[in-house]
Amino acid sequence: MVKSIGGLTLQVSLDRKRMDQFTLPPGEKWRQFELNALGLRDFAGARLDGALNPFALARFANLLVVDFKQIEGLSAEAREHLLGSASREWSGGACSRALPDGRKIIILNPNHGRQRQHSTLMEEICHVFLGHTPNRLAIVTEGKGGKSAARDYQKADEEAAYATGAAALVPFSALRRLVLLGRSAGEIARHFRVSRQLVLYRLKVTRLWSLYKSAHPAEVRSVKKKRSSERDSRLQ
Ligand SMILES: [Zn+2]
Repeated sequence: MVKSIGGLTLQVSLDRKRMDQFTLPPGEKWRQFELNALGLRDFAGARLDGALNPFALARFANLLVVDFKQIEGLSAEAREHLLGSASREWSGGACSRALPDGRKIIILNPNHGRQRQHSTLMEEICHVFLGHTPNRLAIVTEGKGGKSAARDYQKADEEAAYATGAAALVPFSALRRLVLLGRSAGEIARHFRVSRQLVLYRLKVTRLWSLYKSAHPAEVRSVKKKRSSERDSRLQ
């Protein structure tokens, strides 16, 4: 009797282990990012394998997403600079000082596509949910003359926020299922309403890349060719 109960317990834990293998990616760090991301998706009421709308989550993170066009007091020159020659150098910004009601303002680069705005916004949301505090440099800057300073985080926090945000947008279990169904990175990107680059990033960090490669050899060859010609462009 006792033995069978023990056997049952063991069976359950083995099943759980097997389940984890399909719901969580390998590697302790990536499992933790995935668990936090799943928590965020749950919080947002996102369907298990569907797209996540970060704008709905931003409200819960007490972030106010402001349209760039609504910003007053920017000179025509500054506007031209931010949207013109410097447009490629920024994806989004957060004001380090909260509004009187506690909300923090986030501004997204309107020149970047909706998909890229989604990953930028997700990263900012994750900084809030993961309780990251801006690093010392930014705090010191903020103290000077009450000027609002750009927020800056520690490198490890940047990685955690970006990786968790990406996992929330493209969760491992659904990604794995779509790869097994033979879907291309482009199709998967459209499914989750993210960029193809973000899907490629997720395939690599969750170690689904070799599985993907075996199903799409021609596509992987073209990715490699493109990578070597634009080596310095960041995965976003
Ligand atoms: Zn960040």
